[in-house]
Amino acid sequence: MPKGSESESRKLLGRLRDTLAEEGAGQERLDRITSIIAGSMGTDVCSIYLLRDAETLELCATEGLNKAAVHQTRMRIGEGLVGRVARRKRPINAPDAPSERGFRFMPETGEEIYTSFLGLPIQRLGETLGVLVVQSKDERRYSEDEVYALEVVAMVLAEMTELGAFQGEGAAMSARHIQQALFRGGIAQEGAAEGQVYLHEPRVVVTNPIADDPHAELKRLQDAMRTLRGSVDEMLGSMGKNSDKEQVKVLEAYRMFANSRSWVRRMEEDIALGLSAEAAVEKEQSATRARMENVPDAYLRERLHDLDDLSNRLLRLLTGQGQDTGAEIPENPILVAKNIGPGELLDYGKKLKGIVLEEGSVGSHAAIVARAWAIPLVINAKRILTEALNGDQILVDGDQGIVHLRPEESVAAAFRDKIAMQTEAQQRYASIREKPATSLDGTTVSLHMNAGLMADLPSLESSGAQGVGLFRTELQFLTRARVPRRSELATIYGSVLDAAKGKQVVFRTLDIGSDKVLPYMKPTEEPNPAMGWRAIRVGLDKRGVMRMQLQALIRAAQGRPLLVMFPFVAQFDEFREARQQLLDELDREEKMGHVMPSDVKIGAMLETPSLAFAPRQFFEMADFISIGGNDLKQFFFAADRENERVRKRYDTLNVSFLTFLEQIVARCDATNTPVSFCGEDAGRPVEAMCFAAMGLRSLSMRPASIGPVKSLLRRVDLAEVKDVIDTARGTGDQSVRAAIMDYLTGRNGKP
Ligand code: PEP
Ligand code: MG
Repeated sequence: MPKGSESESRKLLGRLRDTLAEEGAGQERLDRITSIIAGSMGTDVCSIYLLRDAETLELCATEGLNKAAVHQTRMRIGEGLVGRVARRKRPINAPDAPSERGFRFMPETGEEIYTSFLGLPIQRLGETLGVLVVQSKDERRYSEDEVYALEVVAMVLAEMTELGAFQGEGAAMSARHIQQALFRGGIAQEGAAEGQVYLHEPRVVVTNPIADDPHAELKRLQDAMRTLRGSVDEMLGSMGKNSDKEQVKVLEAYRMFANSRSWVRRMEEDIALGLSAEAAVEKEQSATRARMENVPDAYLRERLHDLDDLSNRLLRLLTGQGQDTGAEIPENPILVAKNIGPGELLDYGKKLKGIVLEEGSVGSHAAIVARAWAIPLVINAKRILTEALNGDQILVDGDQGIVHLRPEESVAAAFRDKIAMQTEAQQRYASIREKPATSLDGTTVSLHMNAGLMADLPSLESSGAQGVGLFRTELQFLTRARVPRRSELATIYGSVLDAAKGKQVVFRTLDIGSDKVLPYMKPTEEPNPAMGWRAIRVGLDKRGVMRMQLQALIRAAQGRPLLVMFPFVAQFDEFREARQQLLDELDREEKMGHVMPSDVKIGAMLETPSLAFAPRQFFEMADFISIGGNDLKQFFFAADRENERVRKRYDTLNVSFLTFLEQIVARCDATNTPVSFCGEDAGRPVEAMCFAAMGLRSLSMRPASIGPVKSLLRRVDLAEVKDVIDTARGTGDQSVRAAIMDYLTGRNGKP
């Protein structure tokens, strides 16, 4: 072929498409494709290597190399020139391959007679699917035009692979999106669920990578670009004079990309070589993603991210596949996403049966929402988005952090047995619902539940909780597009109290900042938001919102008892000021003639180590204290609760942490200040038992944990548990977990 000429390239793509349309097994198609490419490009060899699994490439078809090596020759990603192309996601153009760094000779292929080598990644949206290689006997460097033409071919191969063109009888590759797949991730919420995949952001599928009429495709691209630019202009236009300058800047950069000539020119060139408009967008998007991975500069990476985002919009415009694809939410939806914020998650409501995230973290508020809903959540399930399709059958094992996609029937059957066993356990817990959590040695621990939504309240009765020990008020703020009005809040809080039917509810004032960013609040750039301007710090600096919330709480009480606690208090003064603010509001409301609560108790959350060492007067002034173990543990160990890598290093049953809790309990006991623990660890039976042994008599947890925690507490002697902890503390062990587990398994067979 006159190398790289447009008409030749289009001819080649046309022949590839014909091959695709022909009857035949996956292998035959792949064989024909290598032969067509070698013929058109005038090379001695054309080979296609496809990914067998995340680590291994396999020679799947070849023209020119020894055919017996097909499906025999394999290499790891990064190994040899082919493996390096896959790892670097960049072409290698080597006139004298054997002298190239990393070259590995594969004797079974008979490739020793070939000198030059050109390898290109077959990739889709930055994800490598395989490698396309051409080789020749003579020493030659392939021209830029040839490389470019082959890139276009590789793009088409990627789409064909994605569409399953090489699967079926005599499959050339393992069938993506058909075979069962297993993912190991992290445990963020226990439980088991079976259902169908529901993608938070479904991927766009390009079904027509090759086009006959470049003029028509160019016009489609231009039309879509015009619409895209129009919508970005509209976004900018709708920003008022008082809009956040940062946000305007970001949108302006966005507009700049939408108008980028070089981006459009590259796509136009792809179309001229025979790609459809959407395939051209995707080809450039793949290139952007590959670049994104290699850019060390965060700012530049962000900008490339903008481009990625624009490409997605463009793809959705061209294919008509919207963000909301109209895909029906299946009957038992399991949400699969890269990551998700608490607000977006709440938008789905309680219909989800489980959640699987490619990223995510145990301490995030999305995880807390999942916990409140008592649905399994598996995080860090790498690559699940490249495999899962809407509607696929999926099993989520939140106890082990395992996800089965498209499972075989035997796996699904075993899984159903497990669910049945859990249901049985739930029935057992129901039988002790009305009984107290009294240990064998007669210590009673009161068990409360954590809540944040009206929808949580029915669990108060079904779980047997004595009250709501923590009502996180920020969830109402996170689910709205604007600050809720005082009257709205008063109605909600009033309904919460109504639903609690006289059981105690502890309202925590707004804890925003950190990972809870309100959509309508101007985002503040903070180097470390978890230790930044959040919770009571915002409340005290910006009094308006806190005042409004306190008034709403007072009005909601309507003659009933009111319990309020302030989050993230780090020093006495903060508590004193916040408390005074509530007292002032009570005064004011009374003067205005509103009905006063019958009783007011004002508490503090102990979430920073500093507060444990506050003056005695703080403990005297606080009506109660609630230990926010999620934050307390992160600051005690200086280990980010959202960073899985460091979070897992520090066991909650670590001797230092348990001793610290013991000291907090002692300080509270000295002033007769009621103390409870409301972090997530309170919902883990073994941890809860140890907290009780350290002197805590009140725990607040997600509703589904009440049964398991109570069941264990009723079966142990807390004085014995304390002895085991004390002995283990004396041995110099870092954690008492091993000793505790030995004790439990020795006693009962299992915890
Ligand atoms: C905590 O920190 O333990 C807590 C209960 O508060 P949150 O998880 O909402 O930060
Ligand atoms: Mg907290």
